[in-house]
Amino acid sequence: MKKKINIQLMGITALAILSTLALSTIVFYELFQRQIVEELKNYAHLLTLTVSSQNAVQQDIYEDILTADNIRVTKIDKGGKVVFDNHADISIMDNHENRPEVAEAVRTGEGKAIRKSATLGKSTFYYAVLMENGSVLRVAREADNLFSIMQNVLPIMIFITSALFLICIGLSQVLTKSLLEPIKKMAENLDEKDEIVTYEEMEPFIQTIRQQHEDIIKNSKVRQEFTANVSHELKTPLTAISGYSELIANHMVSEQDVARFAGEIHKSSNRLLTLINDIIRLSELDGDELEMSFEKVNLYALAQTCVDMLQMNAGKHEVTLSMEGRECYVRANRQMMEEVLYNLCDNAIRYNKKGGTVCVNVCPGIGGAVLEVKDTGIGIPKEHQERIFERFYRVDKSRSKSTGGTGLGLAIVKHIVAKHHALLSLDSEPGRGTTVTIEFPNRIS
Ligand code: ADP
Repeated sequence: MKKKINIQLMGITALAILSTLALSTIVFYELFQRQIVEELKNYAHLLTLTVSSQNAVQQDIYEDILTADNIRVTKIDKGGKVVFDNHADISIMDNHENRPEVAEAVRTGEGKAIRKSATLGKSTFYYAVLMENGSVLRVAREADNLFSIMQNVLPIMIFITSALFLICIGLSQVLTKSLLEPIKKMAENLDEKDEIVTYEEMEPFIQTIRQQHEDIIKNSKVRQEFTANVSHELKTPLTAISGYSELIANHMVSEQDVARFAGEIHKSSNRLLTLINDIIRLSELDGDELEMSFEKVNLYALAQTCVDMLQMNAGKHEVTLSMEGRECYVRANRQMMEEVLYNLCDNAIRYNKKGGTVCVNVCPGIGGAVLEVKDTGIGIPKEHQERIFERFYRVDKSRSKSTGGTGLGLAIVKHIVAKHHALLSLDSEPGRGTTVTIEFPNRIS
């Protein structure tokens, strides 16, 4: 970037210097031409006043001056015939009637012209004046043309251009550095929120970068924690499986204990399987590649099926599971809705008290549908309520594990709810119970 800015600045500088020099040379030459014409005009008028006769100029008075200034004087009569010239032999000179400056002088009283000289790099300036007797007095002078002037001033121009260019290179280096220094500093201190952003225009860009930077750090921390948790969760049932099977393999278990040990292995394997299934499901929901098909789902019927399916489980926990509400349709993914209903109802049963109740309520809400799973269970203390949707976060680890929990159920629910653009809320009081509510925005009636 620095190099690019420097090159561009130098390019602009070189262009500016060269065009300034070219333009000033043209302006200078224009002024130079005007001055010569003005000078010739003065000579011409002065000479017309002093021409004594019809066909002669008072050479004795002006000869020295004219020679010194290298001025050529020509007198042309009415028909265009040259009758006097102080530089050339008039006998060999052709008719001057059609010379532009002479023709113009005959027409308007005065005429001028510039023509290329025979001498290389020179131009001849002519100025003609019509005299009272109809003759034309013309004065002329040779001077350097633009090309020749340029050639003369070329060394000094090269010197000035180079000097200016070197100064500009130095300035562009300083300017580029001072422009980029704050950006460099900002990039180095991206994490420091107090760092003042020098360029106002950079503020949104820096905000976005900072946000992304924070997100990346947060995500990597979450992933790290998740990996550590997964390893830990997998290790416990695997250790049990390995231990029990080793004992059986080494005939270190009495015959009547074999069945019990096999049962423990079976339990741990099931736990492993559930855990792995939940981890896979969560990683599927986490990624962007998951293809979701939405359809018109009867939420009430789906909840009823789930309630029926979990009746036996509720009975085991001595919990009464019931259903309320009325038919209600949402645009949703059927399988995901089943998962949500199962996880919420299963939690409400597992974290309940003996003789407690669980009520699933499905009804139309404001502009959508509302699903509510209400229990009269153990409840969740305030300080844990925010965190229970995190992966592997449990309020009571031993109760979760003893009831077959993986600590991933609510994280899965949260992801699914987000994918349906629905709203998830929790209301819980320790000792009194918990209500989980999901508000779906798009009810289909
Ligand atoms: P788990 O598999 O441990 O149940 P979840 O993600 O489903 O994992 O729930 C996380 C934690 O939230 C649980 O371990 C439990 O402590 C708490 N929890 C969830 N639902 C309820 C509920 N209905 N009543 C009381 N506590 C609950």
